[in-house]
Amino acid sequence: MQLENQPLSLQLDAILVVDDSTVQRAHTVGLCRELGVGVIYEAGNGVEALEMLVQLPIPPNVLVIDLEMPGMDGVELIQQLAQRSVHVPLIVASSRESALISSVETMVQALGMQVLAALQKPLNLPQLAAALQRYGRSQAARPSRKEATFGVEELRTALEANGIVPYYQPKVDVRTGVIKGVEALARWPQADGSMIPPDRFIPMAEQHGLIHALTMQIAEQACGQIARWNKHGLRLSVAINLSPILLDSTNFVGEAAELLEHHALGADQVVWEITESSVVANLGAALGILARLRLKGFGLSIDDYGTGFSSMQQLARIPFTELKIDRSFVNGAAERHHLRVILQSALDMANRLSLITVAEGVETVEDWKLLQDFGCTLGQGYLIAKPMPGDELPIWLRKHTQHLRALREGRLHDKSDGLS
Ligand code: C2E
Ligand code: CA
Ligand code: CA
Repeated sequence: MQLENQPLSLQLDAILVVDDSTVQRAHTVGLCRELGVGVIYEAGNGVEALEMLVQLPIPPNVLVIDLEMPGMDGVELIQQLAQRSVHVPLIVASSRESALISSVETMVQALGMQVLAALQKPLNLPQLAAALQRYGRSQAARPSRKEATFGVEELRTALEANGIVPYYQPKVDVRTGVIKGVEALARWPQADGSMIPPDRFIPMAEQHGLIHALTMQIAEQACGQIARWNKHGLRLSVAINLSPILLDSTNFVGEAAELLEHHALGADQVVWEITESSVVANLGAALGILARLRLKGFGLSIDDYGTGFSSMQQLARIPFTELKIDRSFVNGAAERHHLRVILQSALDMANRLSLITVAEGVETVEDWKLLQDFGCTLGQGYLIAKPMPGDELPIWLRKHTQHLRALREGRLHDKSDGLS
C-alpha cells in the first residue's frame, strides 16, 4: 500500500509507445520522461511498431499500446505480438469505454501476455507510475534460477518432514476493522530463507497425488494455531483452501471432523474455501461432500467468485455460507465503473441470500470505502495485512488495533497509519 508515497524505482531500460495521435503520444512520452524512463521509442502505428521491435538496439521492457489506430489497430497488433511470441508486458490505453478496454485486457491475458494496466486516456502520472511499478514488482517476483528447480521428490520429502507451513492473512470486519478470521495460505520455506509460493507447488501436489496430504498438513497446523489463539482469548475462524481433488475423497469429511475434535474447536471456526469453477465442474461428487461438511457445522466459502461462468442457479444448489469475491472485481473497483457494478450486484445478491461476503485483494483505501458503502461483511488484502507467520499475528494485531479508527473513517493515507 501507500505506493504513491514511495520513491519510484523503475527497473526499466526502455519503453515503446504506440499511438497514431501525435498529441497523445507526446503526452505519454512526457509522462514516461517525468517518471525517469531512460529510452523512449515511438511508433505511429502497429506495422511500424512490429518493424521497430526487431531492430531496436535496446529492446523495450514495456509497450504502451493505443487501441484505436487506423490500419492495424491495437487489438490486431497485440495478436500479432502473441503470434510472434513477443512477450513484452503491455499497457493498454484507449479513450473508449471501460468495458471495451477490460475486454481487451482479458483477451491479452488469454493470449498468455502480461497486462500491467488497461487505462482510459488521457493517461495520468499516478496511473502510469503504478503500472510501471507493477513491472518492477513482477520482475522482482520472478523466480531465481536456483528456486526454479525442484521436483516432486523434493515436495514429497518436504511433506514428510512437515515442511509446508501455513501463513495467515487476516479477514477483518469492513465496518469496524476488527479481525474475525484468517485465511491459511501454504508456503514452502527453503533452507536459504526464501519461500516458494503455493502457485508453484500446489499444481504439482495435485498432479502427483500429494494434495490430500498437503491439505491435511496445512489444516492440522492451522487448527493447532487457532486452538492456541483460543486459549489466549483470541477467537478467530480459519479459512482453508480445498483443492477440487479433495471433493472426490471419501475420507475427507471424517478426517476434517477428527481435526476439530483433536483441537477442541467449534466447527464454525473452520471455513473450507472451494473455487467456483471446481464445484461446478464436479457438481455430483462435490454436493455430497459439501452437504456433509455443512451437516457437521463447517463454513463453506465459494472462492474466486466471478471468475467462473456458473449461474446463480447452479451455485444456489450448493450449501455454502460465504461468497468470496475475486480480487479482479475488488482491486480498482473505486475507479472503474464496470467493476463497481459487478461488485455491487454480487454483494447485493449474496446479502439477499444471507451469505457472509468477503472481498479479497483490497489494496487501497478507496476500494475499502466502497466496500463499506456496499455493505460487504469482511475484507482481506494488502491494505490490511499480507499473509504472515502465525507467531507474528499478535504483534500485527496490536498495531492494527491502534489504527482501527483511521480504517473505519477511511483515513489510512497518512504513512504513519500504515498497518502492514
Ligand atoms: P487464493 O485462495 O485466491 O488466495 C489469495 C491469494 O491472494 C494469496 O496468494 C494471497 O497472498 C493473495 N493476496 C491477498 N491479498 C492480496 C492483495 O491485496 N493483492 C494481491 N495482489 N494479492 C493478494 P498466495 O498465498 O500466493 O496463494 C495463491 C493461491 O494458491 C491461493 O489463491 C490458493 O488458490 C492457492 N493455495 C494457497 N494455499 C493453498 C492450500 O493450502 N491448498 C490449496 N489447495 N491451495 C492453496
Ligand atoms: Ca482462497
Ligand atoms: Ca481468490
